[in-house]
Amino acid sequence: MQILIRSTKTIQKPILHKTDPENQTMNLPELRKKILALRDPDSGRTLEKTGQLKELRIDGTTAHLTVELSSFAAPLKKDFAESVEQTARSVEGIDSAQIQVPIVEQTVAESGKIGLRAKAVIAVGSGKGGVGKSTVALMLALALKRAGCRTGLLDADVYGPSLPQMTGVRGQLAKTGDKIAPHTLDGMPLMSIGFMVPPDQAVIWRGPMLHSAVTTFVRDVAWGSLDYLIVDMPPGTGDVALTLSQLLPVTGAVVVCTPQEVALIDAVKAVGMFRQVKIPLAGIVENMSGFVCPGCSTQYDIFGKGGARDYAEEASIPFLGEIPINLQLRIRGDAGDPNANFEDPQVGPALERIAWNLARHLSDRASVQPLNVSLPVL
Ligand code: ADP
Repeated sequence: MQILIRSTKTIQKPILHKTDPENQTMNLPELRKKILALRDPDSGRTLEKTGQLKELRIDGTTAHLTVELSSFAAPLKKDFAESVEQTARSVEGIDSAQIQVPIVEQTVAESGKIGLRAKAVIAVGSGKGGVGKSTVALMLALALKRAGCRTGLLDADVYGPSLPQMTGVRGQLAKTGDKIAPHTLDGMPLMSIGFMVPPDQAVIWRGPMLHSAVTTFVRDVAWGSLDYLIVDMPPGTGDVALTLSQLLPVTGAVVVCTPQEVALIDAVKAVGMFRQVKIPLAGIVENMSGFVCPGCSTQYDIFGKGGARDYAEEASIPFLGEIPINLQLRIRGDAGDPNANFEDPQVGPALERIAWNLARHLSDRASVQPLNVSLPVL
């Protein structure tokens, strides 16, 4: 009779020194597997599918990784690098990680039928004028550009184009081939009806004219390949929003409002207008939110504070952030010096945060469904 003897001795895993070369080769497949399971913030697909992992090696107890990131997701670079680092350090035997995240520009397909190459079109709107919509549109475009995105800014606020004033960029537009060459600010293409019409001339827009002007701005301007086209919309009315949504899939709308209730009622209307033309809401920004006295540093909530955040939560719209009332922001707006706002500790971080939150929201959305789904306008 055969007796089976089961050994009670547990098999010990060999204890390997972290510097043991055998340990490194053992951990390499695990490291690769974990890194390839991470998701690309741009497409929401795993790195295994996107091919962004360009280098992976272990040197002693340090992992060296190079993972590319698209310029579209550039605002999320720091977070992405951190998640790669944390994942690498979670592998046994790895104590530290050297992460490189080069930003790469991807080819952008034409969106809609009019030849615009923009990965995301973001409409910035408000229920009424004077709440800082144009300021937010410009600062959002610049913040995205400074983070590494290819960004363009279209001032479609045909009733009160303020881009020439806010940027100091003026002058006749030239042609490039059969298209209009946009003006630029630090290399960022800009287009505004204000570049075509003298500032003291009032323009009365009839519906068809408005439609053809917006079509020209989108179709006939040499925008190049963009990650984001930020569109400063006229306040209140739905005409331009309707035209835009008929021309191309608009990725999302950002509604700017001030905290007090009256402005919020207008913001609610703007939200309703975007919903009616089937433009998804990508966020709400509370502008003129509190005032910090430059003399005594006391904060005064002149228009109240937090109203937009509460409304955003209620309406299930991402809250992108708040910008305080800041005298310098207004002065720089009038002087055409918007970049200086990023050096200002009171407003710079707030503006960057808004761009980051928008990129984060679009990234989360991309992980669930493609960003630019064309929806029929009813
Ligand atoms: P809208 O596009 O909604 O009409 P603008 O962006 O043109 O509003 O802003 C109106 C005025 O308010 C401008 O002079 C601008 O510089 C100023 N402004 C906007 N936001 C702020 C802020 N947070 N603090 C101080 N002034 C602001």
